[in-house]
Amino acid sequence: MFAKVIVDIASSLVDKVFDYHFDDADNYQKGMRVLVPFANRVMEGYIIDITDAPMYDPSKIKDIIRPLENFACILPDQLKIADFMKEKYNIGMCDALRLFLPAEMRSGKVKELEEIELYLEDKDKAINYMASLRKNSHAQENAILFMLENGSYLQAELNKKFGASAINKLKENDILKSRVKVKRRKPYATDNLVAANKVTLVDAQQKAKEQILSKSYTYLLHGVTGSGKTEVYMSTIEDVIAKGKTAIMLVPEISLTPQVLGNFRSRFGDNVALLHSGLSAGERFDEWKRILMGDAKIVVGARSAIFAPLKNIGLIVIDEEHDGSYISESNPRYNTIEVAIMRSKLADCSLVLGSATPDIESYHKAMIGTYELIEMKHRINKRDLPPIQIIDMCKEIKDGNPGIFSRALIDALDKTIKEGNQAMLFINRRGFSSFLMCKECGWVAKCESCDVSLVYHKFDNALKCHYCDKRYRVFDVCPECGSDNIKQGSVGTEKVVQELNELFPDVKVLRMDNDTTKTKGAHAKLLAEFREKKAQILVGTQMIAKGHDFPSVTLVGIVDADVSLHQSSFKAPERTFNLITQVAGRAGRADKAGEIYLQSYASRNYIYRLASKYDYTSFYRKEINLREVTSYPPFSKIIRLLFTSFNEDLAKEHTKVYYDRMKELASEFMGEFIYLGVMKSPVGRIQDKFRYQILMRLKPQNADQIISKIYEQVNTVKNRDVSVFVEIDPASLS
Ligand code: ADP
Ligand code: ZN
Ligand code: ZN
Repeated sequence: MFAKVIVDIASSLVDKVFDYHFDDADNYQKGMRVLVPFANRVMEGYIIDITDAPMYDPSKIKDIIRPLENFACILPDQLKIADFMKEKYNIGMCDALRLFLPAEMRSGKVKELEEIELYLEDKDKAINYMASLRKNSHAQENAILFMLENGSYLQAELNKKFGASAINKLKENDILKSRVKVKRRKPYATDNLVAANKVTLVDAQQKAKEQILSKSYTYLLHGVTGSGKTEVYMSTIEDVIAKGKTAIMLVPEISLTPQVLGNFRSRFGDNVALLHSGLSAGERFDEWKRILMGDAKIVVGARSAIFAPLKNIGLIVIDEEHDGSYISESNPRYNTIEVAIMRSKLADCSLVLGSATPDIESYHKAMIGTYELIEMKHRINKRDLPPIQIIDMCKEIKDGNPGIFSRALIDALDKTIKEGNQAMLFINRRGFSSFLMCKECGWVAKCESCDVSLVYHKFDNALKCHYCDKRYRVFDVCPECGSDNIKQGSVGTEKVVQELNELFPDVKVLRMDNDTTKTKGAHAKLLAEFREKKAQILVGTQMIAKGHDFPSVTLVGIVDADVSLHQSSFKAPERTFNLITQVAGRAGRADKAGEIYLQSYASRNYIYRLASKYDYTSFYRKEINLREVTSYPPFSKIIRLLFTSFNEDLAKEHTKVYYDRMKELASEFMGEFIYLGVMKSPVGRIQDKFRYQILMRLKPQNADQIISKIYEQVNTVKNRDVSVFVEIDPASLS
């Protein structure tokens, strides 16, 4: 027999299928990993097919060396998904296949953890042996008595209890036998699981569940925050499991809080496998294996969990479907929702996309019937959504308050703390201030390697580049003109904390952002401290916007709502709207009422007006009209060809050559191109690499055909000193 093998080297030159021969048909199957001879080396590879008719002269085909595992790592459906991704995202088959297994499995960096267990094979023999022991052999005697009671025990533990020499004697005399036991590394404590009290679904939830189970389809579950979407997911998953099927539930990495994980674990116990970035290689491997072997039937995880080796899938859920983290923007690039749609079709199961603020394009799909819309318009406890007050920060300045907090917010903070409640302050910028600038000559501190300004971090007393992480010394006088009149830009998390400390010296404030959560467990620790009310105020970025349920939080302040409004992306309005809704949803979740203060220097903006009324539908209508008029997605597809190189001339030359080819393509597909332009990227250099781009907008109808032509062109770039990326509807154009 012959196997078609993808050799595990990520290089476009080797992205081909190779034939190998094998005799022992019982030992090989599709999806298995194998060792093969390749160009005078021994390489790992994946069997993607088995055939008795090879493509080449059979006498020249080499033999497989051996299988790497005695099971298939990649399921038949997963092979199909890899094929789909290869075409859709122009990636190598090898890159696609790698997504389906724990990275450390390749080249054998992670294995099952094995332990030696000892057991008594023959009790009578042990008792006779004990009788024959000399008087002073207490250790052996005690060990036998212990084993008569316990049957089997870990060798390491027995050595500790009775001494290694006694245990070894018992082994030598065949009283204790040994066997290998696989030890499972658990990414969570198994003990102290509080059984979740099961709730009775309210009407809207029951209806949603019935609709999802009625037929295999893609559903958009649009439910306001606190409408009980999570309960719908869990209850539907319960039904699916009862029918003998399995389920995947994806949440954004950032909202994979201990609380969310705990909820699932207490409801479904060991049936749940968790996959997230906080796992060690060993934990991830063990969870993966449990899924593959059918020991875990529910997978909860971040976007990569869509690749879990789950068989017989009955439901896929993507919570917070609008979240940007579902789009992988680095190698390999893919859109998790597109992959999930493919996976649900292969499994013939439903896919549920849930959100309080669906992506504009998703909602549009629900409007035109590509998805089916399910709406949950009310909160569970019938409590109103907390009122959002928009505060005009320009007026504050006019009234003589130039600070970062409005008077209203300060009063509200004061009141909240006095009443024994808690507050969350949201600012989507870490560090102390967004830039340092000389007031005399206008000089701004910039990164040497990237064309961006540096962010001042007071805590580390350093300037940092948020693109490449380089650090610089802070300067007191302008290096250009020597003036000491240095101005700080817009505020970040650190500055907010400092101002709070000055305003409320007795109040404990916590800060949560990328800087304070770098170490393992820091994230969970901060949240636990806040939950236990060891602090009254939590200041944070994006990280605090999602998934948290703190019963005592009654006040939420959005310190500078305009941050996301000014991003250079056609998605800036919807991101702003989503963020406000998410953040506001953190207040008044339990039986206490909540309130939100939104501070802005552009307080009349329609986005704030609609967000403050939680009026998603009106916002959607406005936004979709705008997109239609301006030909932005879903009324077009945006394609960016990004060329990067350490050598600016090379990047420029390539961009020029391919721009000409795109012009040819545009004249071939007359009328399909809405826009075609070429330019230096807005951030012209990152980590010393120069960036040039060709931007295109295509009519959506024939876009796929043109995109594959673009891929064909791009695949002809052979210069190793230039990288080229094709991005479809990129989230950011920096
Ligand atoms: P969402 O995910 O839509 O924001 P959640 O699922 O977090 O909403 O639900 C909000 C709160 O309501 C949670 O505390 C949850 O435990 C509770 N809840 C959900 N469904 C019910 C129900 N049927 N009966 C009582 N409480 C519920
Ligand atoms: Zn200066
Ligand atoms: Zn930099």
